[in-house]
Amino acid sequence: MSCETMPEHILSGIKAIVAMKLRRKGMIQREIAKIIKSDRSIVSHYLSGRYPKRKILNVAKTIEDLPPNYGSKLIHSLTDDKNLAKNLIKELYGVKLIWNEKSCIACGSCLVCVALTLDNFKLKIDENSCYLCGSCTLQCPTNSLKFVKEE
Ligand code: SF4
Ligand code: SF4
Repeated sequence: MSCETMPEHILSGIKAIVAMKLRRKGMIQREIAKIIKSDRSIVSHYLSGRYPKRKILNVAKTIEDLPPNYGSKLIHSLTDDKNLAKNLIKELYGVKLIWNEKSCIACGSCLVCVALTLDNFKLKIDENSCYLCGSCTLQCPTNSLKFVKEE
């Protein structure tokens, strides 16, 4: 663990927070390990509080307190594994992406992402292709794409 780089340390802090959230939801270590893509032995360290260090956990908690669309960008910058980043964002912030038809001006700026298609002035979000990166929420000129808390 000691040869991890700083981004990996911070990612570990986020994984630890997510592991604790999932445990509180009643998940067992094997299920948690799958979601956060870590060995079960590491999950056990996360849940016991033995790892990572408090300072790293504090950085991760600060990321948890960010607005989700900024926090999501940060989490994606910590790993090339988009599915892992998506899992962590989903659990850390409990958000999903929504589109507001009333305010959308069909400018097409968000269509650079393959998860988004505009058909007859209706925007479709392909949830399987969306990695919750937050870019479209920051690019949209009318704030029509937003992360909202899941029910
Ligand atoms: S959040 Fe990211 S991946 Fe999802 S639709 Fe927006 S730009 Fe695409
Ligand atoms: S960037 Fe915003 S306003 Fe433009 S098409 Fe996408 S959702 Fe609509």
